[in-house]
Amino acid sequence: MSDFDYDLFVIGAGSGGVRAARTAAALGARVAVAEERYLGGTCVNVGCVPKKLYSYAAHFHDAFDDSAGFGWTLPAAPRFDWATLRDNKVSEIKRLNAIYERLLDEAGVRLITGRARVMDAHHVEVAGERLSAEKILIAVGGWPWVPDFPGNEHVVTSNEVFDLARFPERFLVLGGGYIAVEFAGIFNGLGSQTHLVYRRDLFLRGFDREVREFTRDEMAKKGVQLHFEANIERIDQAEDGLAVTLTSGERLEVDAVLAATGRRPHLTELGLEALGVELTESGHLRVNERHETSVPSILALGDVSGGPELTPVALAEAMQLVQHHFGDTAPAPLDYERIPTAVFCHPNIATVGLSEEVARERLGAIRVYRTDFRPLKHTLSGSPERCLMKLVVDDASDVVVGAHMVGEEAGEIIQGIAIAVRAGLTKADFDATVGIHPTGAEEFVTLRTPSRR
Ligand code: NDP
Repeated sequence: MSDFDYDLFVIGAGSGGVRAARTAAALGARVAVAEERYLGGTCVNVGCVPKKLYSYAAHFHDAFDDSAGFGWTLPAAPRFDWATLRDNKVSEIKRLNAIYERLLDEAGVRLITGRARVMDAHHVEVAGERLSAEKILIAVGGWPWVPDFPGNEHVVTSNEVFDLARFPERFLVLGGGYIAVEFAGIFNGLGSQTHLVYRRDLFLRGFDREVREFTRDEMAKKGVQLHFEANIERIDQAEDGLAVTLTSGERLEVDAVLAATGRRPHLTELGLEALGVELTESGHLRVNERHETSVPSILALGDVSGGPELTPVALAEAMQLVQHHFGDTAPAPLDYERIPTAVFCHPNIATVGLSEEVARERLGAIRVYRTDFRPLKHTLSGSPERCLMKLVVDDASDVVVGAHMVGEEAGEIIQGIAIAVRAGLTKADFDATVGIHPTGAEEFVTLRTPSRR
């Protein structure tokens, strides 16, 4: 046993920090965690979990409309009550916070409330205590970033949007990433008149182009007002809400503006600057494959270290890190290339592997199999919603290098397809798989003719 107070001191009790703490403790390490705000971090408190709950809430709008064609008559026009959703969410998150606390306690991890400051390579100060540790893990995540423009003090970020005091009847979101697209779908579904403002020609940069175009069209059909090639010039307090002036000259009056313009590593006042811990060009902590920063006893994982900002990535990195530093054998490196991901807009997007554009650039000869169709459910519901499914195949090897979907439950479907793509299965393997009928997912094993090469 070392002379340090702890073998591992974790700063930040988010998804990655808690997983690392528990896993290291299970291997016999003496572990403490400092957390200043809430247990479970962004994902549990102001991210994935509440977002998915609100997305479910928004889907009822379509479900009520869809039900008529199946013979249902609702007793009265459905009414949405924001306070009920918000307060039920608050109770659920409190329950999850308590579970996290119990998990740490049962693992024998000491939890300290407060923002820790790193004093040197082996010491931290937190809540008036100075503690030593053989390894210090920075798992502090990210923090929303808002661009500078006149009136930006009127915006909310994803930290506040879940808990708005009043439901915004008119809602505007700035940005074209995951959060912007998801919240446009959520507030539109809940009944707000919704605007999305994005500075380039098409949102979701980095996703497959056809997926982005299809999503644009589906969102517009559902009533989201898309303002591309525009940014916010200024926001002024109006008599009844906020007056937003766009760079295009357009002026919109809304009740709330969400800035979903990216997140930055939450490194303020951690003390790492004084220690000379190296950063990348994007301001994230630079780490090696063992998750060590330029000060080897200081480790980092998750959003603060600049990989894909996704909870399952932080969890995987935590398992890796613990195996490297507290396990017997070095783990295999993480495969960052084929990480599946979903955007919970309406309809959902899910994707794994390469977009058509990247595959074409990297591999040259590819085959694209794609279909878009009206799901069986909507033959009776009358909804104009369509579904897109797409496979990108390396022509030379027949390996499926990308799978993309826009449609109901896309995340649930692509999770299974992701195993096949990660395993490097071929289009012939997909073809030899018998479908499940009648589902939308069976299209992934019945696409026989290439749509283009
Ligand atoms: P993203 O980085 O995904 O998107 C930020 C958006 O803001 C981009 O469209 C960007 O435009 C735009 N932007 C940046 N700066 C400005 C500016 N000065 N003026 C106007 N627009 C600007 O960040 P998000 O905030 O949406 O989400 C953060 C991360 O959280 C995501 O990247 C994702 O990893 C994670 N997340 C994951 C979810 C999921 O798994 N379902 C859900 C929500 C978040 P441009 O394209 O031009 O750069």
